[in-house]
Amino acid sequence: MDLIELDGAAGEGGGQILRTALSLSMITGQPFRIVDIRAGRSRPGLLRQHLVAVQAAARICGASVEDVAVGARTLTFVPGAIRGGNHAFAIGSAGSATLVLQTVLPALLFAGEASQVTVTGGTHNAMAPPSHFLARAYGRVLAAMGAEVEFALRCFGFYPAGGGELVATVQPCAGLRPLALTERGARLRGYAESFVAGVPASVAARELACIGKGMGWREAQLCCHRLPAEVGPGNVLLITLEHEHVTEVFAGFGEKIVRAETVAYRTLDCVRRYLASGAAVSEYLADQIMLLMALAGAGSFTTDVMSSHARTNAEVIARFLPVRFEIVPVGVAYLVRVMSSRR
Ligand code: AMP
Repeated sequence: MDLIELDGAAGEGGGQILRTALSLSMITGQPFRIVDIRAGRSRPGLLRQHLVAVQAAARICGASVEDVAVGARTLTFVPGAIRGGNHAFAIGSAGSATLVLQTVLPALLFAGEASQVTVTGGTHNAMAPPSHFLARAYGRVLAAMGAEVEFALRCFGFYPAGGGELVATVQPCAGLRPLALTERGARLRGYAESFVAGVPASVAARELACIGKGMGWREAQLCCHRLPAEVGPGNVLLITLEHEHVTEVFAGFGEKIVRAETVAYRTLDCVRRYLASGAAVSEYLADQIMLLMALAGAGSFTTDVMSSHARTNAEVIARFLPVRFEIVPVGVAYLVRVMSSRR
């Protein structure tokens, strides 16, 4: 089989190019070579989280990979057959456990047996999906497409301490069903949670007060969770909106030099942009479900933001699968359609 040559500097130039390539190489059996890995980032090359994603993918499908280490800028990956069963991977830093899990999860849907994957590392990192996002937003899309996946957060992991633990149980499925996610439908539930570990509970209270006011929510919709101090320091604010057809989770991360109110208002801005757009899916879920929809061979969604992650992901996916993505602006939103590229 021909080697697919990928440029890790193309478009967004981030880790997603590598992760998407790993997922699709495992599933399609097509080997690939990538150069200039994460060239668009301030610390280019493989970080621990990306290295563990490569090792996890290689272990699960018995791939042959040249010897790579942190900092590597090129990689050749020749996949073998996908094996389910129990797998455990440790990032050994606060690198994102959710992104490692997301790399191998689609392939495990196509294993011959059920799998349980445990990843230790960061579970709530800025610039990665928080584990609640995986379980509620991404997991709901998977379920709507016919996949049986359960996520369990055993322990929180924040940057820089790490040490979180996330487990996914994946049942094999015959194939993903196409999904049209163009309408979010009526709001069923909305709530905000602020988790604090080794950070004063007043930080959570201030964040939640801003959200309560901004969303017009009652006390019962605002929940403060105090985690054991040794998990921290860490603070994540989550706003969850459950609609008839989709669940979205918006996250804000507390930082030492950023006021709690600022964290809340930034998160609220994303929620408001999403609500005002009328789109079903927001920026992050959009780039993450493209791979699932491409595996189904068809599907569509509306999104409030067509990010450079999403545009780059469309290009990488089309290198492995016979699909193309049509992106049509609709008012302030976008309609994205996945279709066969075969004539
Ligand atoms: P990369 O920057 O290429 O490593 O990709 C980062 C990934 O994390 C993308 O799939 C984003 O959609 C996802 N991501 C970043 N921030 C969030 C967030 N707050 N909620 C959900 N997903 C996120």
